[in-house]
Amino acid sequence: MNDKIYSLVIVGYGGMGSQHGRKLENVSRIKVTGVFDIKEARQEAARAQGYKIYEDYQAVLDDPSVDIVLIATPNDSHHPITIQALNAGKHVICEKPAMMNSQEVEEVMSASAQTGNVFMVHQNRRWDEDYLAIKKLVDENVLGEVFHVESRVHGSRGIPGDWRHDLNRGGGMLLDWGVHLFDRLLLLFPQKVTSVYAKLSYILGHEVDDGIKVFLTFEGGRTALVEVGTTNFIALPLWYVTGLNGTAMIEDWDMNGKVATWDQADTKDAVPIVAGAGLTKTMAPRSESTVTETPVPRIECDVRDFYYNFVDTIEGTADRIVKNEEVLRIMTLMEAVFESDRTGQVVHLNL
Ligand code: NAD
Repeated sequence: MNDKIYSLVIVGYGGMGSQHGRKLENVSRIKVTGVFDIKEARQEAARAQGYKIYEDYQAVLDDPSVDIVLIATPNDSHHPITIQALNAGKHVICEKPAMMNSQEVEEVMSASAQTGNVFMVHQNRRWDEDYLAIKKLVDENVLGEVFHVESRVHGSRGIPGDWRHDLNRGGGMLLDWGVHLFDRLLLLFPQKVTSVYAKLSYILGHEVDDGIKVFLTFEGGRTALVEVGTTNFIALPLWYVTGLNGTAMIEDWDMNGKVATWDQADTKDAVPIVAGAGLTKTMAPRSESTVTETPVPRIECDVRDFYYNFVDTIEGTADRIVKNEEVLRIMTLMEAVFESDRTGQVVHLNL
């Protein structure tokens, strides 16, 4: 068994860079040895953790003891930093969104293929328990044939006060949060995306979007609604998934929610109920005896598996979990989302 410990340098030691540092403290096959950040305050913070501080990026590239470069800088800088690292013989873990567009992803994929160095994007929200619970319900057919998924995140604090406001730096909520939600949606529904209709919001008056609403259709007819909001003082559920035999809802990251499934054998016709100012048969609830409500399944998961899979990928001992083709597909989908918002039209795809 290979027991090499890989030396990793974090480039960009801000919020996410330091989070990687903390997570990697408990990953036995990787040791964070150094940091490069352009801000003095962040260099100081890294020095306090005992990391070596590099004066410039070239010094990281020139250091033969560095095996892995982890990129956690603003989005527009991922591409040049990645290409230089791959060409210098380093493996690369890169934060999401991988790049600014699909062409940049393709360039990185060919640099990775040419150099033989691994490039992997940190799609860490594949390890979120809420997503894994929904995936389990869909994969195990608990809800019957699923025909619609809603996946969203709602906050009320606007866009954080940093580079996320800046279009040229890859700001905006589509690239920030949309990328996670699309990544997971495309794993839930393996069929091709056939159309996208998107409306981005600019409620807060920034040059970048502060929210997204995207309606997608898939080959075979499944549909999905993907939403990111930053001015939602009451948050709608993270997930609402409905199939012919049941519905699941997960409200929040504490896994509040429920799964309702019903007995297909119930053939009794509905009895009309008084609802609001009217009478309805269509919206009358099913009789309680035919509906089973259960809590959302709980799933054990550990996002550190991402780093272990990265090491296994370098060593060729496991299939990679986050595939570059998947990353390219998400980026292409997000380009269609931007196009639909810009033109006000449905974008037809075979993606
Ligand atoms: P941040 O502003 O907190 O940190 C970015 C750091 O990069 C800063 O310290 C800045 O000084 C440094 N920096 C900027 N340009 C640099 C350069 N050229 N070379 C070296 N250092 C440079 O931002 P953040 O919130 O940590 O986001 C960083 C990246 O991580 C983004 O791509 C973001 O999308 C991603 N992110 C991912 C997750 C996740 O859950 N996967 C969460 C948050 C952020």
